[in-house]
Amino acid sequence: MTRSRGYASKWEPLRRELAAWEQNHVAARLWLRDDDAVSVTPALVRLTERCAEHDVPYLIAVIPSQADTDLANYLSQQPLAEIAAHGWTHRNHGGLGCKAEFPEQRSRVEIVRDLRRARDRMEALFGSGALPIYVPPWNRMAAEVANLLPVAGFETLSVIGRNRIAGLYGELGQINVHLDIIDWRGSRGGRDHKELVDELAAHLAWARENDQSPIGILTHHLVHDERAWTFLQELFAETAHHPVVRWSRVTDLLASQV
Ligand SMILES: [Zn+2]
Repeated sequence: MTRSRGYASKWEPLRRELAAWEQNHVAARLWLRDDDAVSVTPALVRLTERCAEHDVPYLIAVIPSQADTDLANYLSQQPLAEIAAHGWTHRNHGGLGCKAEFPEQRSRVEIVRDLRRARDRMEALFGSGALPIYVPPWNRMAAEVANLLPVAGFETLSVIGRNRIAGLYGELGQINVHLDIIDWRGSRGGRDHKELVDELAAHLAWARENDQSPIGILTHHLVHDERAWTFLQELFAETAHHPVVRWSRVTDLLASQV
């Protein structure tokens, strides 16, 4: 890979942070969640191949009502893939400023019906490969609604951010992502690399100084431009074989939370 002169200085904050983990003799755990899969597309293949090259596991959040059997067949052959449900239809039933598939104002009956449809469809498509993990579209779900997830067979919620959603019942697990590589409000392509590296280093520093919790990276293969793909490629090159980094399966991370 040809690297520009700025490459080393761009990744320096992450290298420094990982050196601090190394000094503490603690493994820095990273994990990858990729949203919005519905079918096998060149972008999905590119993602899975990139991950396979570096032996990086990933959680694919699939939109149940739109997913097809090609996707199920393809993912069943990817040993690094784990699978979660991403909404039911991924349609917005909230306002424009607060998009959500299951906003608090929707009826509880409708919400439980659609969550059950989501879980049933996932099991029909992926069998035991469908993990009982729910990823709400737009990462938005009020605690009152999230507390209905166990009724539909979901055990774990994944949104974005460091804080747990307040008011969740104890039976519902949570495993969040932290770094979204897409610039949704601007280009709707990949974000500036320097900004992403700085943010990732800051998340890792917080984890190192507090609870050593895993840091999750969020991708959306269908909207990746070359800037986003290059970031992922460089991130894997920097971290996949780093002695202190463990790219982890979400099932392993959940097991270690107990
Ligand atoms: Zn989505």
